[in-house]
Amino acid sequence: MCRVDDWRAFRGSRRRYILALARLGVPAIALGQLQVAAAQDSYGRVPVLAYHSIGYGGTAYEVTPELLTTECQWLVDNGYTPISLGQFWDAATGLGKLPSNPVMLSNDDGWPSCVNFADIVVGRFGFPASFFINNVSPISADQIVTMSQYGAVQAHTATHRDLAGLDYDNQLSEIADNKAYLEQITGQAVSFLAWPNGSSNASAVQAATAAGIAGSFGLHGVAADLTSLDTSYIPRIMMESGDDLNVFATKVRGW
Ligand SMILES: [Zn+2]
Repeated sequence: MCRVDDWRAFRGSRRRYILALARLGVPAIALGQLQVAAAQDSYGRVPVLAYHSIGYGGTAYEVTPELLTTECQWLVDNGYTPISLGQFWDAATGLGKLPSNPVMLSNDDGWPSCVNFADIVVGRFGFPASFFINNVSPISADQIVTMSQYGAVQAHTATHRDLAGLDYDNQLSEIADNKAYLEQITGQAVSFLAWPNGSSNASAVQAATAAGIAGSFGLHGVAADLTSLDTSYIPRIMMESGDDLNVFATKVRGW
C-alpha cells in the first residue's frame, strides 16, 4: 500500500472514530476535532470531477442526464461549493482562497452532449464548469462559442492522441494547434490542458509549457491537494455511468 493509501485509510478511520464518539454522547472534544478536520479539507483538497458524454449509450463513461442531475443535487444537499477553473488556479497559486467543501466539474472531448451537461450543471444548478475540447471534437465552431459562454473552454489536444506515444515535435503541435484553434474561435485565452486518456510524460510536459500551458489535468486520480500540487498533472476523478450515489460520495469525499 502506498503512502497516499495509508493516509487515506488513517483519515477515514479517524473520521469514523470521531463520528462514533459523537454518537456516544461525547461531542465536546469529538466535534471540535471534526471541525478541525473539515477546515483542513476545505483548505487544500479539491475533488475535480471528469465527465464525458451525457446520454443513454450505456458505455462506462456516458452518464445519464438523470444520474448527473442526482449527483449535482447531492453536492448541493451535502454542502459542496462548485468552483471555476479560475478559482481553482487562483487558490493553487496563492492568489485566492477556496470556499468550504470545494469541488470542480469538468467535461471532456466536446461530445454534442456537452450542451446537455452545461444545461444541467450550469443552467439548472448554477455551477461553474470547464470544457476540454479537441479540434476533432464533433461539435461546430458555433457550438464551441456557446460552450465558452457556459464556462472555460480549454485544451485537450488537436486529435486526442495518446501524447506519451508521440515525439516532442508532435506533442508540441498537438497542444499548440489545439490552443490556437480554440482561442481563435472563442477569443478567450487557453492556459490549461487535460491530457487525452490521462497520458503524459516528461517531454509532453515540456511541450505544454512551450505552448503556453500553465496547468495540466490528468485522470484516474483522487482529489487534488493544493498544498502539494503537481501543476503538470493535476488529478481528476473519472465519473462513470455505473456509479450509484454511494460510489459518487466516496469519490468526492475521498474516503
Ligand atoms: Zn478525452
